[in-house]
Amino acid sequence: MKKIAVLTSGGDAPGMNAAVRAVVRCGLVAGLRMYGIRRGYEGLLEGRFEEMDNYSVSGLMYSGGSRLECARCPEMLEPHGPEAAAQILERREIDGLVVIGGDGSFRGALKIAEHGIKVIGLPGTIDNDIPGTERTIGFDTACDTLSWVIERLRDTAESHHRTFVVEAMGRHSGWLALFGGLAGGADVILLPEIPWEHEAICQTITRRMTEGRTFHLVVIAEGAGRATDLVSWLQANLDGELEVRACIPGHIQRGGTPTTLDRVLATRMGQRAVQALQAGRTAMMIGEAKGELAEIPLTEATGSCRTIDKELYDLAMTVG
Ligand code: ADP
Repeated sequence: MKKIAVLTSGGDAPGMNAAVRAVVRCGLVAGLRMYGIRRGYEGLLEGRFEEMDNYSVSGLMYSGGSRLECARCPEMLEPHGPEAAAQILERREIDGLVVIGGDGSFRGALKIAEHGIKVIGLPGTIDNDIPGTERTIGFDTACDTLSWVIERLRDTAESHHRTFVVEAMGRHSGWLALFGGLAGGADVILLPEIPWEHEAICQTITRRMTEGRTFHLVVIAEGAGRATDLVSWLQANLDGELEVRACIPGHIQRGGTPTTLDRVLATRMGQRAVQALQAGRTAMMIGEAKGELAEIPLTEATGSCRTIDKELYDLAMTVG
């Protein structure tokens, strides 16, 4: 192994930069030549490579988003896309590719690996929905942001006897809504994985009102419904007793400086990706289980959506 390239793909996540920094610096220490590819697979197909040195990744530990930039690349979905990507890497004599992204990015990575390039994936997504890892890079930071939003809403909710419905990111996965909601002290959390009914929410809120509670905090993951719809429904069905507002933090949940946990995870995973490539591994993702890093076949990591922790959900509902 002489040359390794790294790219970020799909949705950005805090900590992706720290992962790039670790990949580049660990590769340089191992005597390899390191390349960054701008704008994910799109940049790969357009040949947007730049050789990286220690200085190229300076200051990346703290920054959110992706300095290499992310992109969605429809050409990779065409039959010729992954083959063309592999040929470009081969022509540049790049032996190894590190792909930092979510399950879509890993599907692309797997196809490039099938054309003979050694590829390792690092899970970078705020959704935490990748099978084979208990944590993804960016999840902890996004949870912090969501709970920060809920905390602040609580102040105004309490002062004005208002109820808030906060819409969390997560079209298919409720991990962010669950962790962020629990940490933010939400009273009700609605997830795509757990069926829910409007009447049950009404009953919960009515019970809370009879207990003397003057405000309620509801978190709904995008995949479980829209905050604005739930607000309209609650206002119409609670006899106008409640002043309900929607809050949609949206892409705020993607940004920001990564937490310590995300920085450390990204750095450990980045190092392991280089080590795996040097050991000749390919088509694997670096995942974390019980605090240890492990190599998981990309076929497993792309197989399904990791389902939420039901026990934690029950606990959130018990204490909420
Ligand atoms: P994420 O990696 O965050 O899940 P996407 O699902 O948008 O994000 O995937 C990112 C990119 O990965 C896509 O724009 C495309 O270039 C590539 N990709 C996704 N699915 C496939 C696939 N089935 N085959 C090849 N490439 C894919």
